[in-house]
Amino acid sequence: MAAAQTDRDPPTDPEFVHFSAKDTSSSWLAVADLQQEVYRHLATYVPRILCRGASGGNSREEQREELACQLLLLAPLEWFLLGEEPAAGIAWLQQNNHPSPLCGHVFKVGEPTYSCRECAADPTCVLCMQCFLGSVHKEHRYRMTTSGGGGFCDCGDDEAWKMSPYCNKHTPSERHTEEDPVAQLPVDMVARGYSIFSIILKYAVDLLTWDQEDELPTGLETPERSDSYLCMLFNDEVHTYEQVIYTLQKAVNCSQKEALSFATTVDRDGRKSVRYGDLQFCEQAKSVIVRNTSRQSKPLRVQVMHSSVVAHQCFALKALGWLGQIIQYSDGLRRILCQVGLQNSPEGENSSLVDRLMLNDSKMWKGARNIYHQLLMNSLLMDLKYKKMFAIQFAKNYRRLQTDFMEDDHERLVSVTSLSVQLFTVPTMARMLMMEQNLMTTIVRTFVDHLRHRDLQGRFQFDRYTAQQALKFGRVQSLIGDLKYVLITPPSDWSPQLRQKFLEGLDSFLDLLKCMQGMDPVVRQVGQHIEMEPEWETAFTLQMKLTHVITMIQEWCCSDEHVLVEAYRKCVSALTQSHNSLPDSEQPISLSLCGHSVETFRYQVSQDKVSIHLPVCRLLAGLHVLLSRTEVASRVPEQLPLGELSPPLLIELPLRCLVLCAQVHAGMWRRNGFSLINQIYYYHNVKCRVEMFDKDIIMLQTGASMMDPNHFLMIVLSRFELFHIFSSTDVRKRYREANKDVVQQNNTLIEEMLHLIIMVVGERYVAGVGQVEPLDEVRREIIHQLSIRAMSHSELVKALPENGNKETGLERVIDSVASFKKPGVTGRGLYELCPEWSRKFNLYFHHYSRADQSKAEEAQRKLRRQKGEDTALPPPLPPPLCPLFASLVNILQCDILLAVEGAVLQWAVEPSGGGWTESMLQRVLHLVAMALLEEQQQLENNKGDDDVTFNYTCKISRPGEAPSPTGSVLALLETLQNAPHLEVHKDMITWIVKTVSNIKTMRERTVSTSTVSTCPGHRAEETLRDRDKAERKRKAEMARLRREKIMAQMSEMQKHFINENKELFQQSLEELEASTVSAADSSLEHTCVSQVCVGPRRAGGAEQRQLVTCILCQEEQEVRGHGRAMVLAAFIQRSTVLSKNRRRILPDPERHDPLFMHPDLSLGIHTASCGHIMHATCWQRYFEAVQVKEQRRQQRLRGHTSYDVENGEFLCPLCECLSNTVIPLLPHTHIPGHSGNHPSLEVWLNTTIQHIAVLHSAHRKQSEAVAEGAESVTLCQNPFSSSVREMITTFSTSAYKVGLKLNPNEQDPRVPVLSWSTCAYTIQSIERLLMDEEKPLFGSLPCRQDDCLSALTRFSSACWTTAPLKTVQTHFIRLFTVLVPDSQVENSLCILDIDMFHLLVYSVLAYSSVHRLDQSSASVDSAHLHLLHLVTVTHLVQILLTNCTGCLSVPDLSVCPSVEEVCMDQDSGSEEEELIYELYNTLRKHLDSVLPVVSSGWQLWRCVKAGILPFLRAAALFFHYLNSTAPPADLLVAGPCQWEALCSFLSLPSNLLQLHQSQHTLLEPLIYRWCCHPGVKQVLQGGGVLVRFPRESNKLIELPEDYSVLINQASSFTCPRSGGDKSRAPTLCLVCGAILCSQSYCCQTEVDGEDVGACTAHTFTCGTGLGLFLRVRESQVLFVAGKTKGCFYPPPYLDDYGETDQGLKRGNPLHLCAERYRKIERLWRQHGVAEVIGHAQEANQTLVTIDWQHL
Ligand SMILES: [Zn+2]
Ligand SMILES: [Zn+2]
Ligand SMILES: [Zn+2]
Ligand SMILES: [Zn+2]
Ligand SMILES: [Zn+2]
Ligand SMILES: [Zn+2]
Ligand SMILES: [Zn+2]
Repeated sequence: MAAAQTDRDPPTDPEFVHFSAKDTSSSWLAVADLQQEVYRHLATYVPRILCRGASGGNSREEQREELACQLLLLAPLEWFLLGEEPAAGIAWLQQNNHPSPLCGHVFKVGEPTYSCRECAADPTCVLCMQCFLGSVHKEHRYRMTTSGGGGFCDCGDDEAWKMSPYCNKHTPSERHTEEDPVAQLPVDMVARGYSIFSIILKYAVDLLTWDQEDELPTGLETPERSDSYLCMLFNDEVHTYEQVIYTLQKAVNCSQKEALSFATTVDRDGRKSVRYGDLQFCEQAKSVIVRNTSRQSKPLRVQVMHSSVVAHQCFALKALGWLGQIIQYSDGLRRILCQVGLQNSPEGENSSLVDRLMLNDSKMWKGARNIYHQLLMNSLLMDLKYKKMFAIQFAKNYRRLQTDFMEDDHERLVSVTSLSVQLFTVPTMARMLMMEQNLMTTIVRTFVDHLRHRDLQGRFQFDRYTAQQALKFGRVQSLIGDLKYVLITPPSDWSPQLRQKFLEGLDSFLDLLKCMQGMDPVVRQVGQHIEMEPEWETAFTLQMKLTHVITMIQEWCCSDEHVLVEAYRKCVSALTQSHNSLPDSEQPISLSLCGHSVETFRYQVSQDKVSIHLPVCRLLAGLHVLLSRTEVASRVPEQLPLGELSPPLLIELPLRCLVLCAQVHAGMWRRNGFSLINQIYYYHNVKCRVEMFDKDIIMLQTGASMMDPNHFLMIVLSRFELFHIFSSTDVRKRYREANKDVVQQNNTLIEEMLHLIIMVVGERYVAGVGQVEPLDEVRREIIHQLSIRAMSHSELVKALPENGNKETGLERVIDSVASFKKPGVTGRGLYELCPEWSRKFNLYFHHYSRADQSKAEEAQRKLRRQKGEDTALPPPLPPPLCPLFASLVNILQCDILLAVEGAVLQWAVEPSGGGWTESMLQRVLHLVAMALLEEQQQLENNKGDDDVTFNYTCKISRPGEAPSPTGSVLALLETLQNAPHLEVHKDMITWIVKTVSNIKTMRERTVSTSTVSTCPGHRAEETLRDRDKAERKRKAEMARLRREKIMAQMSEMQKHFINENKELFQQSLEELEASTVSAADSSLEHTCVSQVCVGPRRAGGAEQRQLVTCILCQEEQEVRGHGRAMVLAAFIQRSTVLSKNRRRILPDPERHDPLFMHPDLSLGIHTASCGHIMHATCWQRYFEAVQVKEQRRQQRLRGHTSYDVENGEFLCPLCECLSNTVIPLLPHTHIPGHSGNHPSLEVWLNTTIQHIAVLHSAHRKQSEAVAEGAESVTLCQNPFSSSVREMITTFSTSAYKVGLKLNPNEQDPRVPVLSWSTCAYTIQSIERLLMDEEKPLFGSLPCRQDDCLSALTRFSSACWTTAPLKTVQTHFIRLFTVLVPDSQVENSLCILDIDMFHLLVYSVLAYSSVHRLDQSSASVDSAHLHLLHLVTVTHLVQILLTNCTGCLSVPDLSVCPSVEEVCMDQDSGSEEEELIYELYNTLRKHLDSVLPVVSSGWQLWRCVKAGILPFLRAAALFFHYLNSTAPPADLLVAGPCQWEALCSFLSLPSNLLQLHQSQHTLLEPLIYRWCCHPGVKQVLQGGGVLVRFPRESNKLIELPEDYSVLINQASSFTCPRSGGDKSRAPTLCLVCGAILCSQSYCCQTEVDGEDVGACTAHTFTCGTGLGLFLRVRESQVLFVAGKTKGCFYPPPYLDDYGETDQGLKRGNPLHLCAERYRKIERLWRQHGVAEVIGHAQEANQTLVTIDWQHL
């Protein structure tokens, strides 16, 4: 009694009871030293309230603590501050507050955030869902992401948005003024606010930064000190959960569960007391923990602290929370708090309370940090004035904070440094900090200082990094992020101060780049392969991170002429400095060729050091382009240090780097391993290339534009180490190498060099190099990607470089060049290039890899052939160059290039010895074509006043010069035009020759008329010849095209047919294999007018031979009861797909009686088959082989396969469909006994009742006999061979094993019941599918299902033969008793608890066992018919009872159109209506008041008709398969008149009530007995599960149209186990709509002795081991089956580009695709999920290794 009382009561301490917050606060008003008084109060109460032991986790305890805190500690503060009752005071504050327009909603982990891609100043500007929905941006292009926690909504911040910064809610009101909000508060409240805020904030700061374990700050000590301590365990990022749990169990003797809870709290809050007691007791625990965790790493941090210290720290956190709360009500109070926080203490600079918090950040535990960060966000960051002041303090402390963070081991999210995003992304703030605090320089210097590892030249040296340093490097990268924030928006106007500070920052940035210039150099390995792959990732990570910063710096420079010029100067001098360290200075070598000579370095890439990292050069290249783009170079050339630049020096390093790539391609660096290959890959990769490869090309262009083109090319030749080939005396004979490898290498090098020249002259799509707009570049990228093939939006995005704002510019141009093709139910939307843009295709596009190039070439040639054009792929017309780069074109016509071209063409004319390649020729042709286009262009643009200097045609018409004169380039080309080995290039050569002649014509037209006389004739002849040739060619081409087209069409058709109709195709194969029968069937029986499938009049089932082929041995076999058994591969599984009651607890398998299926169908057994037939013996051999293989595999590797052999699973040997058993094929069991007489129902009932009586006594005798020991064998003479019997047993056992989850036991009397059950359930589920998909009942099933049902039904009708006769007879008796209640049999069920279709199937199938007794020659068929009639009547009664209870609920007819149709097509139902009304009233009489009064039969009849339809349809299917009766034509099509056809097929009157009417006297007593069962009344009065008919089909849950609704739902979902914590992986069950906390320790449960995650656990209650989920954060559908199997499936959400976003990485808005969701639903309803998982796991072995059970 007493104990119970203390439990309920608040603290019993009398002091607590008599405490008055009001009195305390008014006493405070009077005192002189308020702080002393408040501290005294806290010193008294805090330890008493918060001094709890380690027993935490008790929620009642926590609630009491919370309450006491509020009443005793916080309430006095509120009274004091507000001067009145707090609730009233707060209301007043709220009323008088003019809130700032900032939303400031702080994001929870996983909450959706939105950013407008059109209006956001940068991608870090985000809106919360509320604000987003109320803003104009929801109509714009937006991006949606999930928050990682921290950060807040930027709604209302006009600097964050280019337009519309306010949502509806946060639009500033008229009243909002710039007035100081403090002035709006009463003066005395302001004063009290200052004093109480400063006391409380100081108290909190003192305690959070307190480092004494045993002492308290002055003023807080209490006289009586207890010896009570806490052992506090702190979080670190080193130890795993398992380690912590294990250690705790040892150290403090707790259970695993407690340890887990401790560990979870430590992980969440950063610390947790794990033991409470005296000092020694706690010290002991500490030493165990330290000892146990110090072995591998530094030990876990543990402190033994006095309980009062911990108590005050706890209250300090609560106090901070309270401050955060109270300032939300008033902007005035908020500002007061800001002032208090930022006020410097007497100690001077940087000594404010906020400074103290920041500077101690890394020493605090996680929970403390989170709470004060939150407070900073609610206070300082919400007040624009103080935000600025805080930013200044933050910048002042920046270096310290970053250094602390570097040493700290917590993730950045919980570090104060992560607030930089809130401060630096505000452009005015960033600029202010840059000017006043020199922020840019600070950031860069801090960064450089943290990377101390350098080589002798002062360059970074990452290859010697230890793991520790690598970790630190990971942390230091966040500084680059900060730099990016600062630079993200280029200034629109510059002040002198900003210029100065920016250039200062640039200086330090150049210092950083200098440390990178030339880092990680490589030397070619010859002889041996390198021993260790050198580290390369770090350098590239750095490069990648800096890429956007470098680009942004260029954008800044671009916006101001002065800055640009200065930056250029600085960059030039930085480059000169780094060149000084080049170890060249030896004597240069001199090169001469074709009468030109030049000096160059003595250097070879293949022998000396070379580095890929050249950021200084590349920045200079970028700036140089800007000089050109902004025309600064032409306006103020005198200010530029252009004279200081030595062009050969400029190109040297980039050229080396490009040659390195060429040599790697040529295979010369094979021994340098993968490290180098990876570096080359990234050099070209879209993530790096903008500031690497692209800039190197620009640098070559820069250098070349300043040089004599001949000199440039000679240096290039020399760097490629090809000079000797082109300078030797017989340049036109190929330099003969002895070594074949070397020849091949050189071939590749020549190709690469030619490609490089093409790029240097031809790449003009950078604004500044060529005269283009910025978007032209993007457009060109897209054109070239789409020239390879049609691509999806995401593929295109991936292929384009992103800028600092994560934009590619794709959307702005895509519609102008491509058309969008929507996706179907699978696949994704694709963009196709509009045909007119393929003119822009350039085969030597610089971003193509070799593979891309050849794919594009093939695609483009094909396209041109299809259009009937020639296949020449000449270069597109390039844009004109900018003046600064104009001289580049001269490369095309310089002597050296002509010599090179001549040489290659010459080799092509005399191809011998492999010293030549077609690619080489192709590149030369491309160069020639480029030159011709240039000349043509110049001629066209020439207005005739001055000479065109470009005169390529003239030069190539001249014969070759020294050293060995041969034919001219043109002559060589003409020779090649007819060379048979160059067929592919013929069109291109023709194009060139034609263009040459065009140009000649143009020139002639402009030049003197004297030459004209000779030309026309020549030209006429030429054109004639041309035309003739062209005509011939056109015809040939047409013929070829036609041929090709036909061939292509044929193969396409074939492929298409097979692909699209895989199922059909398979079926047709199966049909050939399996069903000679069905052919015979249909031909035989379509003549019959009215078929009947049950009863003595039934048709069909004539003895037919059924021939099938075994897929394993290919032998044909007849299906016979006595022959070799044939089997179908099958998969049998438990199913809840039809369940109308997911809460039903699964029955205990040992005691469960499956004979009666409840109408809620909560658990069924489903069988499916792929329809593939084998000999039983062949299958057995196959399965044994699989078992052996699996055993061997398990010995070698661990882990699972996609199928579980131990559970009998295997893959169908033909189609790899997951299977776990086989169904035996059986012949037709019996032919209809037309001769037999058909007794009336009465007669039959009586006979059957007699038989049952006989059986009862026989059974009794038998059991007596057994007791006496005499074996009595009642097994009938079996119609089946032993092999068939064996297979019957195999399948029965599987059904038993799967259905009951028990080990096989052939003796169990339930064995046949489960076989019948799977037959009935499978038919029912297929009937539902057909109904819902509006397919006809017959003829629409795929062959495999048809075969499966047929085999299954025949098997079930025969399976009783392997069971003891007595067992089956007993089953029949029990089933029969339900229909004809008999007092002799106990425990009979009431008819509301039985599914009538199952009852029908079981009783029909069990009847055979009784029929043997029948001497009257009445046929089995008569019995079946009587059983059907009886069950139908029972079902009628069942429906009338259930559907009319309570309200007369008519089933929703719109759900199921065929029901509606059934009801509509009959208007002559008056007879039925009358009869049913009568029957209903009879029922009412039996049940007196339970059934409501119904006025007419019309509604009743509608209900009953709709309700009974599924039963009739299922029964029709069943008897069709059982008796092999062909279906009537009416049921082969979907449509009206089904009812009549159905009834007549089942030999039922179409007025079902006649069944009752005609046997009125016989049935009336039965109905009475059914109704009198006590269960009926009980269920109807709400005492059980009431199922109404027709059962509505189950669907997957409804999903919202907009995906963000789901994200929002999931973000407010908390883990049900760990007290309101956010769940990391919220997962939605698509079957029942439950949200689960997946993939997390907290929600693991034990299932069958194994820990499983929440999803797996849920599947056992919701789907018997099978589940369909949506992982909300990942936007991924998850299928799991059993404990070890699962796969991911594409989600039904698509973006506007028809793509899914698995992992939510792209952030495009996602919308529900109903078709795809329906597809998933269909998969589930067809029981196909397990099969999908099987196929997915087979196809992707990595899926097998995932621990699905932990999800
Ligand atoms: Zn908001
Ligand atoms: Zn808003
Ligand atoms: Zn917008
Ligand atoms: Zn076989
Ligand atoms: Zn198969
Ligand atoms: Zn959880
Ligand atoms: Zn569920």
